[in-house]
Amino acid sequence: MRELLGSCTDCGKDVYCMDGFLNGVYIENRLFCFECADPEEKKEQEKEQA
Ligand SMILES: [Zn+2]
Repeated sequence: MRELLGSCTDCGKDVYCMDGFLNGVYIENRLFCFECADPEEKKEQEKEQA
């Protein structure tokens, strides 16, 4: 079961709840996808490639 919760506050991507798992994060009552909620992780990946 997949339920649309809304769109990411930052990038506008749709965020779903899938089988009870939230496909994003709530921060201060705003909805973000994982990519926008965790920019630190993205930075780490870029560092590894360099
Ligand atoms: Zn996003």
